[in-house]
Amino acid sequence: MNFCSHCGQPVKKVLLAGDSHPRFQCNGCSRVHYQNPKVLVSCYATWGNKVLWMRRGIEPCVGKWTAPSGFVEEGESLEQAAARELFEETCARVDPQQMQLHMVGNLVRMNQIYMVFRAPLLSPEFSTTEEASEVRLFAADEFPIEDFAFPEVADNVQLFYRDLQRNRFGIYMGTLENGKNTIRVVGRED
Ligand SMILES: [Zn+2]
Repeated sequence: MNFCSHCGQPVKKVLLAGDSHPRFQCNGCSRVHYQNPKVLVSCYATWGNKVLWMRRGIEPCVGKWTAPSGFVEEGESLEQAAARELFEETCARVDPQQMQLHMVGNLVRMNQIYMVFRAPLLSPEFSTTEEASEVRLFAADEFPIEDFAFPEVADNVQLFYRDLQRNRFGIYMGTLENGKNTIRVVGRED
């Protein structure tokens, strides 16, 4: 950040009394601009023992497979955001009311909070979009893990397929820090 979004004057980084992190403060109007992690949501949309994946049509990781994902917009719930991103990227539909939490993730270096939901597709209908050059349902042994866009969190994918196959779903907390992904169970549904 170089300039104040309120008045347009330059900002400087300062440590305010009693605060733990340096902040951008405006030289003109003294306004403090706090910066905090963004919330990224994904939807694992399921059809039987299969999960809907998309091949990325745009950078980053163009040509690689990922789950439909995006940032939560102001004025929408997490579930609405996950369903919206799913539809925008693959034209597939789920009911936000049927969304269950799969994982809460700390993407520490990326300054993002990652929330992964799961929901059954309302029908096995989907299509390519600007953002997805290919959209497909894959069972566990069909998923092209070698072409997964984010190999550092491939464990999350394998964990989800395991839960889907046994039809028992846990709730997990993942932490990606210094390239290492750790997962712990925080809730179990038997
Ligand atoms: Zn200002």
